Amino acid sequence: MKKKIKTNVLANQKRLSSKFFFVLIFLCFSLNSYGYTLDKTSAWMQNPLGKIDELNKKDPALALAFSKKLVAENLQKMTDFDKATLFSKMAQHNYILGHYRISQGLLDKAYALKTNLKTDTGISMLLTQGGIMDELGNSGQAMEKYLLAEKYAKANENSRLLADSYAYMAYSYSINHKDTLALKHYHQAYLQLEKIGDELGLAYLKAEMANSYSLLFDDINAVKLAKEASDYFKKHQYYFDELFVQTALAKIHLRKKDYSKAEATYLRVIELTKKTNQTEYVYLAYLGLADTYHHSQQHDKARIFWHKYKGEYPDYENPSAEVGAIVLAAKLEIADNNIKAAIEALTKVEAILAPLGKQNALSWYIQLYDLQGKIAITKEDYKTAYFKQEQARELLKNYYNAERETVRSKYKVMFDTDQAILKNKLLEQDKALNQASLESAAQKQKLQNMIIIVISLFVFVLVYFMYRQILNSKALNKIANTDSLTELANRRFTFIYAEKMLLQANKNEQQFSMVMFDVDHFKQVNDNFGHSGGDIALKELTSTANEYVRCHDILGRIGGEEFLLILPEANSAQAYEIAERIKLAIEHKVMNIQGKSLQITASFGIAQLTKTQNSFSQIFNNADMALYQAKNQGRNQIVIAKQSSG
Ligand code: GH3
Ligand code: MG
Ligand code: MG
Repeated sequence: MKKKIKTNVLANQKRLSSKFFFVLIFLCFSLNSYGYTLDKTSAWMQNPLGKIDELNKKDPALALAFSKKLVAENLQKMTDFDKATLFSKMAQHNYILGHYRISQGLLDKAYALKTNLKTDTGISMLLTQGGIMDELGNSGQAMEKYLLAEKYAKANENSRLLADSYAYMAYSYSINHKDTLALKHYHQAYLQLEKIGDELGLAYLKAEMANSYSLLFDDINAVKLAKEASDYFKKHQYYFDELFVQTALAKIHLRKKDYSKAEATYLRVIELTKKTNQTEYVYLAYLGLADTYHHSQQHDKARIFWHKYKGEYPDYENPSAEVGAIVLAAKLEIADNNIKAAIEALTKVEAILAPLGKQNALSWYIQLYDLQGKIAITKEDYKTAYFKQEQARELLKNYYNAERETVRSKYKVMFDTDQAILKNKLLEQDKALNQASLESAAQKQKLQNMIIIVISLFVFVLVYFMYRQILNSKALNKIANTDSLTELANRRFTFIYAEKMLLQANKNEQQFSMVMFDVDHFKQVNDNFGHSGGDIALKELTSTANEYVRCHDILGRIGGEEFLLILPEANSAQAYEIAERIKLAIEHKVMNIQGKSLQITASFGIAQLTKTQNSFSQIFNNADMALYQAKNQGRNQIVIAKQSSG
């Protein structure tokens, strides 16, 4: 397994590391026992199983050792399902460690126990089985297992195993160079892990996805995801995992010609190999640094690190790794003008590449021809130089065509995955929006109520003040129009009212009369009873007279003890009747003032509206004269003004 990682990381545009992926699977496996199952592991197994998963996070070999001990000591106690679960885990550990035959043997033992494949344990078995098939080059059958696992995981509503299924599929696509499909499935796994909030699992996925994006030349996404993953690993001290992500990241920086970042990242890789005791991987950083320094024209440093690299890693494990190293060596020789050594190196490269075929090693051939052209120039052999450059250009065209195709599919998958993510986001936004709209509706309602309350208050206050204003003006009017002692209309209002009624009577040719009366010898009342006694007598007289006043008539006090009764729609005869009644009532009224009884009389003068006497002052004067006559004739009597009636 480790050998596999090594070659993968080295390979140019080949697979990176699959370590992340396996650790992820293991992590996921750790929670299998909590899912929906038809069969269940025994209660006492929970602890040991948990411990196995914990150990696995550190090192699958430790988990395997513990599992073996568990089997040896407790086999008798275990149910068939316990055994199957344990064998399945052990199969997985062996799979991670690259022991595919042993892994298959353990799976077979689990199958033999008639394990229900629809249980979580069964699903894990399917996934491991698929993984082994993938490794042995049988991806078609592997996919069948994964699809079955996906179906059962969905039925069990186990997001973690569902994520596992998608991740296995993605990995299968990835090793078969179908990077767009791989990304699509990584995204599906991502959505599931995001749902259950598994940060570590997400970090592993990000590392894998960064690799796929990088293979699709989407360096922006690749760097972003790789950085997120490495930050997570660093923070949680998963240095082994950080080591591989940083190595991948450094390669992307290098390709982007971001040399200072590439350098810093490779230096971090060296640090990490020491931290994790994985010094066997330090050669990766040395070669990377040599390449970086070569590109940034620091040839001395480049040479130093190339030799360090050679010292650490003298034997190549695959052609791709070897070509990479020798091409770099040739470049360094050319830079130092060691043409002979450069030619030797390139001859070696040609020999290694020959069996691969041009189409399978396009980028290496391009570099080869390019370097051969450069060498020809140093020898002033321009014809060869031109020929080599032509060859390089031709291959470059092929290369770009292939790349264009990849980029096209990259955008397709970006579109697809973006759609999936967008859909998810939209759903969440929808939820948030619903919530927000509910809240805003509630707020609106609150605001509305507030506005209604404020407006109501305002209207109430307004109405209250208007009402008070009306009351005030009414009161003021009343004060202005009323005589304060008797509460009769005062002189001013009596005259205004009389003029108004007279106007109407004139207009409508109606009758109109007025009765003026004056208390007889009132001075004597004042003399006998005092002024306050006189006031009481005036009030008593007023209330007595008022009883004979009809609703359209008005009785006003126009002087000290002088009164005027306005009678619209009455002629002098009718006025006489009313005056007669008032005269009698006053005359017969026995008042009790300060314990003494008092009877008073009054004299009356009546005048009416006629054709010739139709103004207020004329009628008023006539009434006044009639009253004067009544006084003169002996008082306590009524006189109608002599007028020409008409
Ligand atoms: P007569 O009209 O019958 O000729 O005799 P009189 O005594 O009533 O004479 P006159 O009308 O001239 O006098 C009215 C008196 O009424 C004079 C005044 O002191 C008194 N008087 C006027 N206003 C008031 C009032 O508001 N209260 C009181 N107590 N007396 C008043
Ligand atoms: Mg008088
Ligand atoms: Mg008088």
